[in-house]
Amino acid sequence: MIPSSLERLQITKKNGSQIIIDPETIEEEEGVFKVKPVAVVGNQVFIVCPLCGQIHVHGCVAGSRNSHCKDMTGVYEIVSDVV
Ligand SMILES: [Zn+2]
Repeated sequence: MIPSSLERLQITKKNGSQIIIDPETIEEEEGVFKVKPVAVVGNQVFIVCPLCGQIHVHGCVAGSRNSHCKDMTGVYEIVSDVV
């Protein structure tokens, strides 16, 4: 875990399901998200998906990604100085 992420993540419920909110995720315009990693393990980066509120794992390179949910149609950008 990236130490500051332990303090910033919030767990809540939406439509009866548990979701995670990362307050540092920025929505620049509707549907355009910039997310920060919550953990880096080896060559993988873990982020809180702004679309579904779950953790997704990606290769450890900053940049645009398709979400692993919503039929892979969601997109967000991983921004970081650690990957
Ligand atoms: Zn997702």
